[in-house]
Amino acid sequence: MAANILDIRKNFPVLNQQVNDEQLVYLDNAATAQRPTAVTDSLVHFYQTDNANVHRGVHTLAERATEDYENARVKVQHFINAAESAEVIFTKGTTDGLNLVASTYGEQVIQAGDEIVISIMEHHSNLIPWQQLAIKKHATLKYIGLTADGELDMADAADKITDKTKIVAIAHASNVLGTLNPLADLAKLAHQHGAIIVGDGAQAVPHHPVDVQALDVDFYAFSGHKMMGPTGIGALYGKRALLEQMPPYQFGGEMIDFVHQQDSTWAQLPYKFEAGTQNIAGAVGLGSAVDYLSDIGMANVAAHEQAIVDYLLPKLVADPDLAVYGPHDPAKHTGVIAFNVKGIHPHDIATALDMEGVAVRAGHHCAQPLMTYLGLVATARASFYLYNTKQDADRLLVALAETKEFFNHGAVKAE
Ligand code: PMP
Repeated sequence: MAANILDIRKNFPVLNQQVNDEQLVYLDNAATAQRPTAVTDSLVHFYQTDNANVHRGVHTLAERATEDYENARVKVQHFINAAESAEVIFTKGTTDGLNLVASTYGEQVIQAGDEIVISIMEHHSNLIPWQQLAIKKHATLKYIGLTADGELDMADAADKITDKTKIVAIAHASNVLGTLNPLADLAKLAHQHGAIIVGDGAQAVPHHPVDVQALDVDFYAFSGHKMMGPTGIGALYGKRALLEQMPPYQFGGEMIDFVHQQDSTWAQLPYKFEAGTQNIAGAVGLGSAVDYLSDIGMANVAAHEQAIVDYLLPKLVADPDLAVYGPHDPAKHTGVIAFNVKGIHPHDIATALDMEGVAVRAGHHCAQPLMTYLGLVATARASFYLYNTKQDADRLLVALAETKEFFNHGAVKAE
């Protein structure tokens, strides 16, 4: 990485603490990342110097707050290479952005007999909005399956996406399998059949360079808190032509042009989709996270995480007590690694690792259909970010060995 990893770690005071008398190793980044001081400082600075409501004030603070908020939108625009800032809508996060598309575009377009195609690896937030829309509209929800090694099955995608398909909605990166899906190829496939494509970028934008125009996605949602920004803020990218034709998501202040007694007209983009007072400080913090990541460079972030995966994944895969999900080839794997230790419940693994200061997640990772598909109830999951090191990977390996010993499990082989 261009910047020194030790210098980077100094930007994250939260990492510098002991948990259960051990130095913290934070490997729960897929759930939420830690924030650098640049981001927390930007929140304090905003509240201490510029805080006011945006857009409707003529006083100086209102103008400064509006400038801060709109500058953040431009930062996000450039970060994902949207054609214009009006195509970036601030949301509460990925879930909110995906619900917005299902409730507006989906409501408008889907009719009885239409098909919506998602994949079996989707997070519930890119599944339930489409499932409920399909139920309501008497449409069919189809799932693209996986290849034997845990990647998205593109042959199945070519079968499932047909002229009946109106919407394809796919995770750019899986929060369980550690795969990066070929979203540009899926976009091409969807468009060939006259469908639109929605990308769930929650696990991609924080870790990889993302260019929404190169991907040719129609909508793309992501969360601030997984990319070092505050919670409660995220962004939805949408192509202008689609956003223009869609009805508003919520009604109220800020999103109107003119309100009459019996009807109303809507504000121009992106405000049509930003009803009520927004998370202004959150947007400022997200802008600051974008600055932080851009300074390091997303290609460097991805390369740093890949080096850890190249080091760690073969060791986990080689352990006969472990079942590792998703591709076993490190070149096909992101820094999200789901695994189980045979005979030990993943919650026990996570609790035992926490005793060693290593924070991982255990559960269904909001992907119950995927768990069922894989014949699992839950997994443990270690997920890495740019402040993690190979030493962190070693700490995980040592803590896992100690956990297995504690459960007296060393000799039992994984299925
Ligand atoms: N999609 C994926 C792939 C995710 O990993 C997550 C968060 N775990 C979400 C969507 C939902 O993100 P949020 O909770 O920030 O709305």
